[in-house]
Amino acid sequence: MTTHLPLGDRRDAPFYGKDIISVRQFGLDDLEYVFGVAREMREIVTRIGTIDLLKGKILANIFYEPSTRTSSSFTAAMERLGGSVIPINEVRYSSVSKGESLPDTVRTLERYADVIVLRHPDVGASAVAAKYASKPIINAGDGVGEHPTQALLDLFTIIAELDQVNGLTVTMVGDLKYGRTVHSLSRLLSLFDIRLNLVSPPILAMPEEILTELATAGTPVTVADTLDGVIATTDVLYVTRVQKERFDQESAYESVKDAFVISPATLQKAKRRMIVMHPLPRVTEITMEVDDDPRAAYFRQMEYGMYVRMALLAMVLGKA
Ligand code: ASP
Repeated sequence: MTTHLPLGDRRDAPFYGKDIISVRQFGLDDLEYVFGVAREMREIVTRIGTIDLLKGKILANIFYEPSTRTSSSFTAAMERLGGSVIPINEVRYSSVSKGESLPDTVRTLERYADVIVLRHPDVGASAVAAKYASKPIINAGDGVGEHPTQALLDLFTIIAELDQVNGLTVTMVGDLKYGRTVHSLSRLLSLFDIRLNLVSPPILAMPEEILTELATAGTPVTVADTLDGVIATTDVLYVTRVQKERFDQESAYESVKDAFVISPATLQKAKRRMIVMHPLPRVTEITMEVDDDPRAAYFRQMEYGMYVRMALLAMVLGKA
């Protein structure tokens, strides 16, 4: 894609004018940079609330799949930086329902906006959009593919809560097959010296492709279908929703939907210093009694997400 260089933008800024499509774009130095900016954003929001760093910039937020957190945290992030948002949360009411193609929709929106956040049901949709767009595209979830901004905020959460990543044991539990957040997060974690436990019903196992990538990266992985052998040594318990919308057969969903339910009894077997994360929305996989446990980090995790998304917007728009 061609980059635009409006006056006043920092052309030398890392990620200036770039698309954010996959976590594979991020090395350790990039992560340090993103998180440094995100920490500054946290400071700004805590002290001042809103600034005008992105005043005059416009974000097109286009979601072909449902979203609460990703969509509203990008909106909040843009508005806290003084920018504004074109919200297309319901493509049914846009020209998509008249048969407009994704390339045409993004080439339309980039005429009005400076950056596009896109969620789409097809794997690779953001990469396709980026091929046609000249403005930055941020992948907000491409089907069962990736959710890079979620993985970045997940990693930011781990560092904020537990101070470091190296040396940790991370246990991912639930739907590892269709859950795009665990696809992105496991790839990102493989840059660090961690141990990964993958716990799921056999039909919801982590895709082979990702297991191969983890093996190539040298990440020690344990695959299990119960938490029993791993809960006591877990530092981060990353719980996921069984992705009902991805199943071909309702009966297959019914057979696994309650396979893992995290309750206070589960956490009794866990370390005192560990965290429970979830990209949310939660259905039945974590009981509400867990919410009062200080180890439950999933509501704090959402807030960290806004700071990370503020950082990413400022970066791709050349203001960080
Ligand atoms: N909100 C996350 C996602 O969009 C997780 C989920 O839907 O279960 O992938």
